[in-house]
Amino acid sequence: MAVTERTLRLPVSGQKLTYELERKSVKNINMRVRADGKVHLSVPRQTSDAKITAFLTDHEAWLLNALKKTAARAEAHPDTETLAGRDIVPYLGGVLRVVCVPCEGRTGRFELDRQAGTLTLHLPDPQDSGWRMSAVETFEKAQTRMLVMPLLKQHFPYFAQRGVAPPSDVRFRVMTSRFGSCSSGTHALTFNAKLCEYPPAFIEYVVVHELCHFLHPDHSDAFWAEVGRVLPDWREREKIGKK
Ligand SMILES: [Zn+2]
Repeated sequence: MAVTERTLRLPVSGQKLTYELERKSVKNINMRVRADGKVHLSVPRQTSDAKITAFLTDHEAWLLNALKKTAARAEAHPDTETLAGRDIVPYLGGVLRVVCVPCEGRTGRFELDRQAGTLTLHLPDPQDSGWRMSAVETFEKAQTRMLVMPLLKQHFPYFAQRGVAPPSDVRFRVMTSRFGSCSSGTHALTFNAKLCEYPPAFIEYVVVHELCHFLHPDHSDAFWAEVGRVLPDWREREKIGKK
């Protein structure tokens, strides 16, 4: 059956929602927000209009949040379609082959097999670029966190000895032009969620670089001398990120 386009006024926010409706042989109502910001609803064939409207209004907060995230993502990746279509993901300086397999339910999950060099994404709709992209992003963010946190723990004692307080927060998000940032105001560290695409030597350099900003908020000679004390080969490591 063809996909029809409908509109609905969301009751809480008053926002007008345009969505695609597809009736097909599925057991449950499935909703997703595509990479291009389109809301797609697939419903069991006999679902009444009242039930569809109730489902959408029940999920208003989720929907608005998903739409906001998609818009922010589209802004960060003007090349959304090519990114979503890629079947390899850079990982620790190498690559992983992406395999998409269908799964039940709304949430995708992933499986990393480093030996085989594959990243298997379990997606409600393996053909949908929005799902693929958000699954890769979730994977990258989790991997980067897993790699960065032990490095912070390893290097922090040196900075603590020099009077640096522990970071108030450590955040991970996709950044377009930076690998990390250090906020002197909030004392928080932010790392690019895509760091896991780079070799471990570079990831360690970024962690040390940001920690050194707690001592020197600038890129002065004193700052670089500090980086050199922790990682004497920092110049070599820094080059990796410029390739
Ligand atoms: Zn810096």
